[in-house]
Amino acid sequence: MSELASYAASSANSRGRRYLEAAPDYRSEFQRDRDRIVHSTAFRRLEYKTQVFVNHEGDLFRTRLTHSLEVAQIARGIARALRLNEDLVEAVSLAHDLGHTPFGHAGQDALNVCMSDYGGFEHNLQSLRIVDELEERYAAFAGLNLCFETREGIVKHCSLDMARKLGELGARFLSGQQPSLEAQICNLADEIAYNNHDIDDGLRSGLLSPDQLMSVSLFHEHFQRVQSSSPDLPGRRLIYETVRRMINALVCDLIETTQSNIARSRPETLADIRLAGKLVGFSSAMREAQHEMKRFLRENLYQHYQVLRMTKKAHRIVADLFSAFLSDPRLLPEEYRDRGDQPRRVADYVAGMTDRYAMKEHRRLFAVGEI
Ligand code: MG
Repeated sequence: MSELASYAASSANSRGRRYLEAAPDYRSEFQRDRDRIVHSTAFRRLEYKTQVFVNHEGDLFRTRLTHSLEVAQIARGIARALRLNEDLVEAVSLAHDLGHTPFGHAGQDALNVCMSDYGGFEHNLQSLRIVDELEERYAAFAGLNLCFETREGIVKHCSLDMARKLGELGARFLSGQQPSLEAQICNLADEIAYNNHDIDDGLRSGLLSPDQLMSVSLFHEHFQRVQSSSPDLPGRRLIYETVRRMINALVCDLIETTQSNIARSRPETLADIRLAGKLVGFSSAMREAQHEMKRFLRENLYQHYQVLRMTKKAHRIVADLFSAFLSDPRLLPEEYRDRGDQPRRVADYVAGMTDRYAMKEHRRLFAVGEI
C-alpha cells in the first residue's frame, strides 16, 4: 500500500482513547477498533435487523450486516485510491449502523416518538452509546474504548443541543468544522451502497420493475449501455451488470471530484482537513443523479404499500413493547431495570432487539396462549 497522505488520520495523529491503553503489538490503533467492533454483540445482531425488507421476508435481501459490509468495501476502495486510512474507514463503516433498532427506520421513528419526553432516540447517537457504554467485554472499561476518530465518524450528525452534551466529540458541530476525510467517505459510501442495493433488492422483490427505473437517468444510461454491448443478456444478469456499473460510476466520480477538491484546498495536516469545507463529494451532475435515485426510491420503494404495511406493524410492535416495559419495569430482564433513567434503559433494550426477537417478545407479552 502506498504511503498515507500527510492529512490522513493515523495512529500517530489520533486524539486517542478515553481510557489510556498501551499501543497494540502488531496492529494499528484503527485495526484494533475494527476488531473490537467485529467482536461486539451489537455487530452480530446486525445480521437479523432490517435494512428495508424484514429479515424473514427472504434470504437474499440485504440486512444491516451485509449493508455494513458493502459500505466498508466501497469506503475502503475510495480510501485506498485517495491514500487515506483504510483501517479507519473500515472501522467506522462496520460500526455506523450498530445503533439501529429492529425494523429499520420505522423502528427508529417509533422509538423516537416513545422517547419524545425523555430526550428522544436517534440511531447515530445510539451507535455511539453502544461503543462507549453498552458493550461490556473488557476488564478495564465499559464500552469498546474506541479512538476519537472512530467515534467521531460514528456521529454523522446531531442537533446543537445534543452537540453541547457530547463534549469534545460534539465540538465540531458547534464550530462548523469537518470530521476526517475518512469519516466523510463513510457517509457517502453509505449512500452509494444503499441506493444501489435498494434498487437491486427492489427489483428482486418485484416491488420495482426495470421499466419504472428507466425514469432514473443513471440507471437508464447504464442499462442501455449494457443492452447494446450484450444484447442477449438475460434479465437478472442485465440488472446486476447495470447496478455494478452504477456503483463504479459513483465511486469513480467521488474519487476524482474529491481529488480535485483536495488539490484546490491543499491541506497538509488532519487539522487542515477539519478547517477546510467538506472535501469529499460528487460532481454537481452526479449529485443530481444521486438525488434523483433517492427520490425515486422514496416514492416507489419506501412508500410502496407492501413496505408501508410492514412499517405500520413495526411502529406498533416497538410502541407496544416500549410502553409495556416502561409502565411495568418488572417485565424487563434484571440488567435493564434502572431507577435513574428507566426510559433510556427501556430504549436500549428495545433498540438492541433483532426483528425476530422483537416479534417474539411482542407475542410473549400480548398474545393470549403464549408464554
Ligand atoms: Mg447505513
